[in-house]
Amino acid sequence: MTDGSYDYDLFVIGGGSGGVRAARRAAMLGKRVAIAEEYRFGGTCVIRGCVPKKLMVYASQFSESFEDAAGFGWSVGERKFDWAQLIANKDREIERLEGIYRANVEKAGAQILMSRAELVGPHEIRLTDSGRTVTADQIVIAVGGRANPHPGLPGAEHCITSNEAFHLKRLPPAIVILGGGYIAVEFANIFHGLGSQVTLVYRGKEILQGFDDDIRHELHQAMVAKGIDIRCEDTLSEVIQKPDGRFEAHLACGEILDADEVMLAIGRKANTENLGCEAAGVTLDSRGAVVVDAYSRTSAPNIWAVGDVTHRLQLTPVAIHEAMCLIRTLYHDDPTEPDYDTVPTAVFSQPEIGTVGLTEAQAAKAFANVDIYRASFKPMKNTLSGRQERMLMKLVVDGSTQRVVGAHVFGPDAGELAQVLGVAVKAGLTKDQFDATMALHPTAAEELVTMYEPSYRLEGGDRV
Ligand SMILES: Cc1cc2nc3c(=O)[nH]c(=O)nc-3n(C[C@H](O)[C@H](O)[C@H](O)COP(=O)(O)OP(=O)(O)OC[C@H]3O[C@@H](n4cnc5c(N)ncnc54)[C@H](O)[C@@H]3O)c2cc1C
Repeated sequence: MTDGSYDYDLFVIGGGSGGVRAARRAAMLGKRVAIAEEYRFGGTCVIRGCVPKKLMVYASQFSESFEDAAGFGWSVGERKFDWAQLIANKDREIERLEGIYRANVEKAGAQILMSRAELVGPHEIRLTDSGRTVTADQIVIAVGGRANPHPGLPGAEHCITSNEAFHLKRLPPAIVILGGGYIAVEFANIFHGLGSQVTLVYRGKEILQGFDDDIRHELHQAMVAKGIDIRCEDTLSEVIQKPDGRFEAHLACGEILDADEVMLAIGRKANTENLGCEAAGVTLDSRGAVVVDAYSRTSAPNIWAVGDVTHRLQLTPVAIHEAMCLIRTLYHDDPTEPDYDTVPTAVFSQPEIGTVGLTEAQAAKAFANVDIYRASFKPMKNTLSGRQERMLMKLVVDGSTQRVVGAHVFGPDAGELAQVLGVAVKAGLTKDQFDATMALHPTAAEELVTMYEPSYRLEGGDRV
C-alpha cells in the first residue's frame, strides 16, 4: 500500500503517544516515514499530562505519609516543601523522557520534523516553519487535544489550565478548580496535599461522572474529610482580577471565593483548528473531533486519525493501541479494529480509584440479574497511623453466567490493582474462579478473592 511518487510513504502529524507509535512501527517496517511535532516530543502524556501529573501526585502524598509515620513510632522533624525544587526536578525528568522518545523515533529510521504541519490536500502537507510542502501516500492525524479554555466565562483569560499548573512560579495558597472529571479531581488532591486550600466547583450532582456511584461517593466524602471544599451543582459565573493580583471566583450561587489561582478542567478539545481538514476532505464532528470509521480511517481514504483527536477514549494506552491496530491495517494486510472493551483506568486521587469493566448502574441495565460483592474496611496501615480512611472493593457479577463484569477499588494503590484485575475481567473469569484463587495474606487485595456471599442482588435493575 505505498506509492513511490510521494516524498514519504507515511506522514504523521503529532509526536505524542499515538503519533510516535505509528511512526516508529511504520519506519521499523522499512517505510519512508516523517513525523512533525510543533512543540515537544512525547505529547500531552509525557510533557503535560500523565507523567508530570503522577510525579506531582507522588510529591503531594508525602504530607500524609509524614502524619502517618507517628503511629509507627517515627517522629518527623520540621517539614518544608519547596515548590521550585519539585518543578525543576520534574522538568529534568520530562526532558530525559522527551529525549528517549526522540531517540527511539530516530533509531527506527523515521525523519523528525520540528514544525507545525497542516494539510493542504489529501496527500499534501505544509510545514509552517519553512513554508515547504511535502507529499505522502498515507497520512496519520495524531494531533491530540488541549484543555477547553471556556471562552464563555467572563474572566476566563485569568484562569490557568493543567498546562500552566505544571509551571506555576509558586504553590498557590488558595486555588479554585472548575470541573469534576478525573483531571480536576487529581489536581484538587495534588494541590491539597502540597498545602493549598482547595475548592472544587462542579456543575454536576457528583464528581467523576461515569465511574461507579459508590466509589464516587466514597471519594467525595474522603476529600471533604481531608479539608477539600467541594461544591457540586454550582459553577463559576465570572473571574475578576483584584488590584493585588489575586482573583475573585464568582459562583453561580452568588458566593465569591478569593483565590491565588483559578484553574479550568472542564474537558478537552481536539487540536483541529486550522489543520486544513476541509482542504484534505477530512470530516470533523460538531465538537471539532476527526470522524473515523472502526479502523481509524477518516472520510479521506488515505488519511487516518488516532488518539485524543478522535474523541474516542482519551487515554494514552488507547492512543498507542489505536496506532498499533492502524499499522496492522495499513501494512500487514490485516484490517484491525481497536478493542475498547474492558479498559482499566485509574484516578490518582487520595485515596486512589482503580476500575475496570461495568459499573453497578451499567450492569443493572445490561443484565437481568446482577450480584454485587462489596467490602468496606480499614486497611491495615490505617490502624496504627490512626487515619480514618476506609478502603472499598466491589465486584460486579452477571447473575446468570457468574462472570465478573466489573471490578472497582477505592483505596491505596487502586490503580495498580486495576491493571491486574483488568486481566481477570478481560479474560471473562467467573466469581468461582476468583474464589478458587488463594488469598495472599496480609494484603488489602485478598478481599477480592474472599467475598464469598453477595452483598446484594439486583433484579431488573432493582435491589432485592
Ligand atoms: C493533565 C492530564 C493528565 C492525564 N493523565 C492521564 C493518565 O493518567 N493516564 C492516561 O492514560 N491518560 C492521561 N491523560 C490523557 C493522555 O495524555 C492522552 O490521552 C494522550 O496523550 C493522547 O495521545 P495523542 O497521541 O492522541 O495526543 P498527544 O499526546 O496530545 O500528542 C499530540 C501531539 O501533536 C502535536 N501537534 C498538535 N497539532 C500539531 C500540528 N498541527 N503539527 C504538528 N504537531 C502538532 C502536539 O504538540 C502534541 O505533541 C492525561 C491528560 C492530561 C491533559
